[in-house]
Amino acid sequence: MDLRFENVSKRFGERLAVEIPQLTIRRGEFFTFVGPSGCGKSTTLNLIAGLEEPSSGTLQLGDRRLTHLPPHQRDVAFVFQSYALYPHRTVFGNLSFPLELAGLSRESIRERVRQAAELLGLDPLLEKYPRQLSGGERQRVAVGRAIVRQPQLFLFDEPLSNLDAPLRAQMRKELRHLHQRLGTTFIYVTHDQEEALSLSDRIAVMRKGRIQQCGLPRELYERPVNAFVASFFGSPSINLLPAALAAGPDGIAARIGELQLSLAGLDAKILEAGVVTLGIRPEHVRVSREPLPERWPAEISLVELHGGQTILELQLGGFSLTAVERAEARYREGEKVWVVIPEERVHLFDPSTGNRLGADSPGPTS
Ligand code: ATP
Repeated sequence: MDLRFENVSKRFGERLAVEIPQLTIRRGEFFTFVGPSGCGKSTTLNLIAGLEEPSSGTLQLGDRRLTHLPPHQRDVAFVFQSYALYPHRTVFGNLSFPLELAGLSRESIRERVRQAAELLGLDPLLEKYPRQLSGGERQRVAVGRAIVRQPQLFLFDEPLSNLDAPLRAQMRKELRHLHQRLGTTFIYVTHDQEEALSLSDRIAVMRKGRIQQCGLPRELYERPVNAFVASFFGSPSINLLPAALAAGPDGIAARIGELQLSLAGLDAKILEAGVVTLGIRPEHVRVSREPLPERWPAEISLVELHGGQTILELQLGGFSLTAVERAEARYREGEKVWVVIPEERVHLFDPSTGNRLGADSPGPTS
């Protein structure tokens, strides 16, 4: 069943924490709310769970109105960052507890716990107590406790943030597999852009309580609606440079520092903008040792090795750029190189509002 937000807002006193005029989360989706600390992600999840009441608007799950229903009648299960397991109950006891509360028979409880344990690889742990488990195992039990209830919606609030990096990567995969097998709607909250991109079917990027952009991970990365979304995704983050646009003999040209970049594919209307913020992702900056005429001369000021890749900081005529190259190229600090910014990879933003410019500005499409 789809979950629909209609004119939902939440205020704490004078402070607007969340404002979502319209949003539909589709049945079976892995949907993520992502954004920096304080942007309203957890409050949004709490509104769905019924842990907070909206100040206005309605939430509807299928044809059932959720607004004002107490949490236990909403048919949603919540997995928190802190596992909140019962320390004096075994793993079996933790998994069975919500079902005991719901008054299920002993046989159904055993069957549901068995299914969840199998799905999450918890069989060998059923007789252990939470203190005897690793962080990853505890998180798996917390997920298991949500699964046994067979809810219509799963809500996850930063469930992996207490885990170390390798375990987080493993749990991400497990969550994805779990979602594929269950086919139930997952609504997930994180501040981690990489986690959002790798897990989600669709993502809503939030800032100051409002959704900036909602779409497929690829769309958000490749066609961000504003400079905030552009710089939120990607590591290292997108290069944003002030650029002055002018008409040249071969169409529009952007002056960045002392250098000139031809943007021949742009509509002349964009000239009205005058000064823009030009965005180029580090992996789209091309670096070469070949001195071809259309390339800009640059000097490498910093080389950072990241396994198979190196991050290069480049000094050009009056500005610097970050680029990502394969480590095999073995660039060195102080080396003189040549740089190309491919026109089709350039994003343009309004420097005052941050909004994307030009309906058909050359946003990357592939
Ligand atoms: P984080 O990632 O840090 O948890 P978040 O994106 O989940 O942040 P929320 O916790 O939803 O953000 O908070 C959104 C805004 O509402 C913040 O400005 C926060 O200070 C405020 N807020 C949240 N809960 C309350 C509350 N109970 N009383 C007053 N203000 C609150």
